[in-house]
Formats: sequence, structure tokens, C-alpha cells
Amino acid sequence: MAPAFPAPAARDRLPRVEIDRAALQANWRMLAARDPAARTGAAVKANGYGLGTAEVSVALHEAGCRDFFVAWAAEGAALREALDAAGLGTGGEQGGMARGMPATRHAGVLPAPALDDQARIFVLQGLEPGAVQLHLSHRLIPILSTPDDLAVWRAGLQQAGRRAPAALQVETGMNRLGLDRADAEAAANLARSGALDLCLVMSHLASGDEESGQSADQLARFQEIAALFPGVPRSIANSAGCFLGPDYAFDLTRPGIALYGGSCGPASTGTVRPVATLTAAVLQVRTARAGEAAGYGAAARLSRDTRIATVGLGYADGYPRAASGAGVPLRAERPGAEAFLAGQRVPVLGRISMDMTLLDVTDVPQDAVRPGMRAEFFGPNVALDDVADAAGTIAYELLTGLGRRVERLW
Ligand SMILES: *Cc1c(COP(=O)(O)O)cnc(C)c1O
Repeated sequence: MAPAFPAPAARDRLPRVEIDRAALQANWRMLAARDPAARTGAAVKANGYGLGTAEVSVALHEAGCRDFFVAWAAEGAALREALDAAGLGTGGEQGGMARGMPATRHAGVLPAPALDDQARIFVLQGLEPGAVQLHLSHRLIPILSTPDDLAVWRAGLQQAGRRAPAALQVETGMNRLGLDRADAEAAANLARSGALDLCLVMSHLASGDEESGQSADQLARFQEIAALFPGVPRSIANSAGCFLGPDYAFDLTRPGIALYGGSCGPASTGTVRPVATLTAAVLQVRTARAGEAAGYGAAARLSRDTRIATVGLGYADGYPRAASGAGVPLRAERPGAEAFLAGQRVPVLGRISMDMTLLDVTDVPQDAVRPGMRAEFFGPNVALDDVADAAGTIAYELLTGLGRRVERLW
């Protein structure tokens, strides 16, 4: 076990991400309300998009979420243990599995998810050989995406003398992970013969947040392939898919980024509440003369006398070097990111270094900035997506890249 970081003492000036639990829950409820007939799940992979899988999942469970998606079985097992420790999601091995999922809406019956349903944990990234036992012991549902996955799952169940539900992922145009049509037909035969218990058939949208015809093409392809599995619940929508209209909701949606305050296409603008606020402390305020330089590589050449606040946050904390105000070729033509300090937005000055970032606070009233004050790097005053744009990346990467020494404060 790695030692806890940060240590309890001496962390006043450490970078910190404050997580608004109520906003996280509000975002989930907002997405759930967009299609009340479908269940609304949550992607909590990659440490709950960097914010903490257990805390995120417990908060979402409280809001009503019962379907959690992780990338790896190891993530799923840790989540199951966390939910069990929190007294959530128990109910006996596979208990509630059948009643937990409504029959596909196209087949009629659609009971609202009962709050005492067992929490289901889906493992997105297929089945490693040898992982079947972990799935069974932690009640994880594998999402079988290759013929190998199917073979490993069936052999493992046979060996354990057990039955357990699995999900299937089918390929509809992303060419990332999923069964091709012919393999899906083989799986459908297995399901029909009773050799495979399916609780979900799903696919993933490649361009849900973009204006393109790809989502409609994928939807049509998905409907075609899902028809091989009559009565099996369906899912295709990620966050962006939740904003594409009721045709995309099917029986279960799987939002991720929108829960955590990231935008997912024009339709989502203004509806998603910020959840994570990244702040760091000012370590020093100093004045440099016009003509001097600041930071590594002297990349920032000062054209005026400049007041500089040095802040304790750097790329080692996940604040990307590509968000620098100058001197990072990756984004030569883009301006750098901004932070929020003393009630004002201020630009990042020069290159972001490993543990520190310089802010140009010349335009903030003298004496308004003092060591120990905290600057916001994203949150309610600096949109996560604006920082991502400035760094030439996406909100997902900013959140999942938050460093280990950034304290998560709920
Ligand atoms: C990560 C992921 C999601 C969630 O995607 P967002 O864009 O964050 O909403 C849903 N489904 C699959 C298969 C994923 O990999």
C-alpha cells in the first residue's frame, strides 16, 4: 500500500480539488430526467474521472444510480468492496440481477428502478483470461467484446459450475472494441440456446458531441444488430448521447463527463453544473521590470513592469504544460490558460513548470494578492473546458490527469 498523500500535516498550501457532491448528484438527476423511462448509469472508470471512484459512486448511488461502468475488473472489484463497505449494493450473489434491469422498453414492461436494487458494476474493457473468478466473487458483469471474451467467460463459468449475467458490446462504426456482425450472430445463437445469459447489449458512439451523421449511422447499425437479441436491454448513449434525443436512450444510458461538469456538445451547454474546482496557493508575489523575462527558457518576455504571483501547482499535478502562457511550441498560436484570483481572471505567464505556475497579476489591484491566497485554475469562474481548450486537450484528460498530490476535498 502506498502511504497516504498528502500527509495530514502541512498541506494548507498544497493544490486541492474541491468536489461539489450536490452538483455531481444534480448533474446525474438532470441526465436521468432527460429520459425518465431509461435507467441512467454512470461511467466511474479511471478513478471516477480523477475525483475518486468510491466517493463518486456512493454519491451517485444516493442520487439513485445503480449501474456503474469501469474499465478494468480490478477497478470494478475495488468499487464493489467500497460499495459493500458503505453498506450499498448488497443483496446476495447476483441477487436483484434479473429484477434490476427492466425488460427492453420495446418489449413493453418498464418498471422504474427500485431504490433497493443491487448496484451493478459493468467492466467495459473485456475479460482477461483468469479474471472470471474475480467477476464472480465481486459480482462484476463483464462486457464481452471479442470472441475470446466469450470463450473465456463460458469456460470460466463451466469450471466454476455457475451461471452469471454478461453484457455484449457490438461494433457499430467506431472500430475500437466490439463484436462484428458475424460474431454477434454467434453470440445470439448461444444466448438463444441458453448457453449465455445476457443482461445488456451495447455499443459506443464515436461522435456524439459533434455535428455529423455518424451517430445516426451508428444508431441504425445498432438497432439492426440489437434485433438479434430480442428482449435483451440495450444501451448506446454516453453523455453526449443523452443529448441526442430519446432514440438514443434505449434502456440504459452511460454518462461520464457530463456528471463531472464537462460539456459534451452544444446541446449540453448551460445544463451541466461545474463539479470540480482546482485551486492552488500563492507562494510569492514579486514585481519584475519591463524587458526582463520570467520562467523557464525566458519564454515570457515582459513588455511592461509586471507583478507576478508564483502559485504552487504544476504539470506534475496535472495542470498541463501545454496551457502555458508562452514558450510551449505545442500551442504556439493559442493564448495560454487563465486562472481566477482576487475576483479577477488573470493569465498564466510563461511556461508552467513541474510544481509551479506564474500568473500575471499586474491588473489586479495592488495588495489584493498575498501569499497564501488560493487561485482557481478551473471551477465556477474558469470553465474546465476553457482550460482544456487552452491546453489543446479535453476536459476528460484534465480530470483524469489530476495528480496524486492534489488533495480531493469533498
Ligand atoms: C467512458 C465511456 C462512457 C462515458 O463516456 P462520456 O463521454 O464520458 O460520457 C460510456 N461508454 C463507454 C463504452 C465508455 O468507454
